[in-house]
Amino acid sequence: MAQTGTIVDHSLNLIKEDDTFLPHLTGSNREKAFHSLAAILSTPNHIHKSFLRIARESGEVVRILAFRVQHNDTLGPYKGGIRFHEEVDEEEVINLAALMTLKNALHDVPFGGGKGGIVINPRNFSERELHLICEKYVRYFNGIIGPDKDIPAPDVGTSEREMDWMMAEYKSINPGKPYLGSFTGKSVGNGGSLGRREATGKGVYFTLRYLIHNYLNKNIDAFNKTEHPYAKTLLNYKDKTPLKLAIQGFGNVGSVAALEAYICQNLQNKVVAVSDRNVTLYNANGLDIPALVRFTAQNRGDLPTTKEQLVKENIEAEIYDHKHILYIDVDVLILAALADQIHQDNVAQVQAKLIVEGANAPITAEADQYLNDRGVVILPDVLSNAGGVIVSYLEWLQGRETQYYSEEEVYKQLYEKMQATFDRIYPQYFNDRYSLREQCYIQAVKKLCTTLYRQGKLY
Ligand code: NAD
Repeated sequence: MAQTGTIVDHSLNLIKEDDTFLPHLTGSNREKAFHSLAAILSTPNHIHKSFLRIARESGEVVRILAFRVQHNDTLGPYKGGIRFHEEVDEEEVINLAALMTLKNALHDVPFGGGKGGIVINPRNFSERELHLICEKYVRYFNGIIGPDKDIPAPDVGTSEREMDWMMAEYKSINPGKPYLGSFTGKSVGNGGSLGRREATGKGVYFTLRYLIHNYLNKNIDAFNKTEHPYAKTLLNYKDKTPLKLAIQGFGNVGSVAALEAYICQNLQNKVVAVSDRNVTLYNANGLDIPALVRFTAQNRGDLPTTKEQLVKENIEAEIYDHKHILYIDVDVLILAALADQIHQDNVAQVQAKLIVEGANAPITAEADQYLNDRGVVILPDVLSNAGGVIVSYLEWLQGRETQYYSEEEVYKQLYEKMQATFDRIYPQYFNDRYSLREQCYIQAVKKLCTTLYRQGKLY
């Protein structure tokens, strides 16, 4: 995963050269201010770490490592998911927290960046044990979380069930305090927002659809005239039907994005491949996504792995190993599993010319450079997977007002917010030399810089 410091330093160097940004800061004052900015943004404000003490069903007492990293709260309370994964570590949580700061800044969401992690494989714990782990997490970190301080949400390995348990614990140990905004991603029956579960996957697919169907068509004359390498790549997508899609990861984000593609009327798509931690399924004529969604719902989230299972469900697909998805010859590859999936050892085998990052940091810095140099268009995580945090913000607002929006209203606000970001970013992207990821970081860091400067925090 790219290091936070590197990302921020690189963006600051690009911004410093731009005389039109904070133009009254000149000479040594400009140097000093940019050093201060680098120091503030490249390190987290706080790293909280605890060993949760849990008695397992067997009676054995175990200690489980848990983190909450609060990266930056310049724009509002810290915000970010809690990941349950056996390989999660401090460095990963720090980097993910920094990504949240940038994502919120980019999309004008009034939150800072945070992230949590618990080092477990949730599949190895009973429901009662997981419930206890959630309660202990809230008890250990109670002093630093809350609706106006730090608002966790689900991430890999967690869902509305865990958020419901955590909010309930927060409520019982903070009697009389507002609690609905303490966690987002809760179930709708427990103060959650309609559309929150689907928001990230829908936003990921909307990012692709808006670029190809709306932006490209609207600006086709400019695209035809320009020599811009990424615009040239995208021109090949105009009127290409059907678009062949492969989607890595079939969890919350991947399965919803797949279903969106399956039902989309604006673009003619075929989802020819999907994968999860066990398997890749491929059908050149398009997979039956609703049937696969039904299967995973009944099988702890896993896709079918055997011919017998496919036949029983009447699903036609070829079976490959789980890594195969990355190398299939498709038009669009959506990465919706974990970090670091495309790296320097496998990047040369990737054939898609348009990649959408549903997951956080699924492409390493080296692989990113390699793909950019070849004109591959990458719609980066900070841009395309912000649907979850945008609807989390709406959930937080609804909890404050105790007034709830319809599903239609939630999606309307989600798409309007994402579209506002695209319309700010794309004209810049197609008119200068930076990758879309660099362009997004530049915009996000500029927003944070301006706020920090206005608040007098740079000297
Ligand atoms: P999830 O736990 O619901 O699903 C993860 C999926 O990835 C599962 O299908 C799993 O089998 C698959 N997977 C795991 N290891 C794999 C491997 N090695 N190869 C292929 N597939 C593998 O998680 P999610 O909520 O869908 O999140 C997916 C990604 O999106 C994560 O990087 C997460 O940080 C990011 N994200 C999620 C949200 C959200 O709202 N859920 C928001 C922003 C970003």
